[in-house]
Amino acid sequence: MQIEIVSIGNEVLSGRTLDTNFAFLARALERVSVQVAWHTTVADSSERIAEALARALERADGVVMTGGLGPTPDDLTRKAVAAALGRHLQLDEGVLEHVRARAKRTGRKLPASFESQALLPRGAEVWINRHGTAPGVLLEHEGKPVILLPGIPQEMEALADEYVVPCLQKRSGRSVEAFTLRTAGVYETMLQERIGALPQGWPGATLAYLPSYFGVDLRVTVAGDDPAQVREVTGRAYAELKAIVRPVLYAEGERTMHEAVGEALLAKGWRLATAESCTGGLLAKRITDVPGASRWFERGFVTYSNAAKVELLGVEPAALAADGAVSAAVAEQMARGARERAQVEVAVAVTGIAGPGGGSDEKPVGTVFIAVASPGGAAARRYAFAGTRHVVRERSVQTALDLVRRRVLDLALDPKLE
Ligand code: AMP
Ligand code: MG
Repeated sequence: MQIEIVSIGNEVLSGRTLDTNFAFLARALERVSVQVAWHTTVADSSERIAEALARALERADGVVMTGGLGPTPDDLTRKAVAAALGRHLQLDEGVLEHVRARAKRTGRKLPASFESQALLPRGAEVWINRHGTAPGVLLEHEGKPVILLPGIPQEMEALADEYVVPCLQKRSGRSVEAFTLRTAGVYETMLQERIGALPQGWPGATLAYLPSYFGVDLRVTVAGDDPAQVREVTGRAYAELKAIVRPVLYAEGERTMHEAVGEALLAKGWRLATAESCTGGLLAKRITDVPGASRWFERGFVTYSNAAKVELLGVEPAALAADGAVSAAVAEQMARGARERAQVEVAVAVTGIAGPGGGSDEKPVGTVFIAVASPGGAAARRYAFAGTRHVVRERSVQTALDLVRRRVLDLALDPKLE
């Protein structure tokens, strides 16, 4: 089954609004192995909408249109689609009630035009929109589904997850399973080399390498017509891939590094402190993104200047003079100082050159030292991160968290594939 997605809206066509609806839909459909074969963007024009629909119905097995379902005069999708498919618009009592109930609940007096959202092409299956007024609509045209969705991303996404994806997956008759393994500290090429042709032994599976500055995610999707076989292949792929990436695996699915760190600390009953120079608090920010981080995060020091490193962390001026602020010795002293002064079991320190200036031959931009201190002692590592200032800082944070995770779990500090 091949689907065409049609984005409708002048603001999208002009580039002022990024087409996140398309990206969301395409990704969601890819996950269930429904193929998006075309994507068209058209203006708020009845003629263009009708034209796009006709062309999509000619070549695709189903059409999903987003946008233009609102109550304002530039919202033309319902009318244009009804006309193109030769159907009358009909008042849907259920939608009308929903629109009125929402207006009442929000205490706003909605203009009468809002009720126009209940006018739908005859024969429509209606998907009530819990985040807004304009419903999702499913029409059958000569055996093909034509789906209309509102443009507001939050509303579109909820309807897509709840109705569109299951509806199209069911029609495609395919069974799909997927899993994600998240790795940190190794390059995509290293993983590829090690994994090699393994996926060829998994019928119906695709393995996607998804690199970002958080690491490389490995996403496996298995699709097929026989659910039992899909399940068997998925289980085998999971076991085989996990055996390879285990030394660099930090989480599965949607779980993040900072969640993994929190869990490891809680399990051990340890608390964490941070000492940051070049990341300027980004590490503490990431940690406190996790609700409940107070159970394991004690405090963070942002020591940007040398004086702050001396005053707040007890770094020796002699070490700063001899090795410079960006050095293994200073990183280690920062970690030890943070651990002692915060009176916690484990501390992590980051000092480096995020750029774009400040690099030298000896310590080019992207040179970052990260140290952990724990009851077992302190250790520092030197990294060379590529990228802009933003990327160097993000990579530093992720690597610092991974070092904490490794230390707490008693794993080797340097990630390495066996
Ligand atoms: P509409 O349903 O056309 O009234 O769209 C309402 C709002 O949703 C627009 O003003 C845009 O801000 C947003 N929007 C519409 N289409 C898209 C799209 N394809 N991607 C992201 N946002 C969109
Ligand atoms: Mg619009």
